[in-house]
Amino acid sequence: MADAVAPLLRTEEIGKTFKVQRRHRLVTRNVDFVALDKISFQVRPGETVGLVGESGSGKSTTARVVARLLEPSTGRLFFQEEDITHATGSTLRRIRSQVQFVFQDPFSSLNPRHTVQQIITAPLVYQGRPVPGGARKFAGDLLEQVGLDPDHVDRYPHQFSGGQAQRIGIARAIAVRPSLVICDEAVSALDVSVQAQVIELLRGLQREYGFAYLFIAHDLAVVRQVAHWVCVMSEGRIVEQGHRDAIFDHPQHPYTRTLLEAVPRIPSDWVLPGRSGHHPAPAQKHEGEG
Ligand code: ADP
Ligand code: MG
Repeated sequence: MADAVAPLLRTEEIGKTFKVQRRHRLVTRNVDFVALDKISFQVRPGETVGLVGESGSGKSTTARVVARLLEPSTGRLFFQEEDITHATGSTLRRIRSQVQFVFQDPFSSLNPRHTVQQIITAPLVYQGRPVPGGARKFAGDLLEQVGLDPDHVDRYPHQFSGGQAQRIGIARAIAVRPSLVICDEAVSALDVSVQAQVIELLRGLQREYGFAYLFIAHDLAVVRQVAHWVCVMSEGRIVEQGHRDAIFDHPQHPYTRTLLEAVPRIPSDWVLPGRSGHHPAPAQKHEGEG
């Protein structure tokens, strides 16, 4: 079934090298740092690919390369079967309008001096496209789609809670009806209950509009809730990838197993506290919320 659909995005052994300065004694030298090494994966339309791995493993660099904010050093990148590895000019602008980002911290990624209406319509204005139905109505409709009050279009980001601000970030991302939304740790800074609501929103938007997501998170419990396909990254490489259930239930790579061991599990005989007093709840490890 899965292979019948042409991939929206496909990478073929992408590599990314950065020039970095290394100091030894009094001598500073430029050396190559390999941030990505032969990254191959694909995202199909309407599907969520989870990208997991510890900090510094190359997740954000992968995201920036596939959105062509960075140019790959080696390998090839295809968007809707078109080779965009070294695309420039109007091709690059066309691709970038198809790919939108939601970042971890909504308050630093939303302009504090702009109203919600200006924020949500900015991607269209930037692309020189008319705002359908007028800016106010357009922004209000989008606020509604992300579960916020459409009358709040004149407010500023600081007038919202973290979860609400992240919804505004999502509204901005989907305003141009992209085919791919990259969520780079988009729910990582939110409280667990707010996190669940934002995840539900993202899933609902995917069902309704068919967005594909590249969903980056270091929290595997979160990825398990959203991803159809999971890529596990370590030190610039994808060490294992597969269907969500295969990765979580039968991890092959030792690194994946280590990551999974850090996720608290709910045993199958778990009884919710308060339902039956005689069965003590097992000691539960708390997830790091930072
Ligand atoms: P992650 O998102 O998984 O935490 P990143 O993709 O941000 O990891 O970073 C991967 C590695 O590449 C890190 O060691 C980081 O320091 C390095 N890196 C990222 N961007 C640059 C850059 N512009 N110049 C030099 N090194 C970079
Ligand atoms: Mg990152």
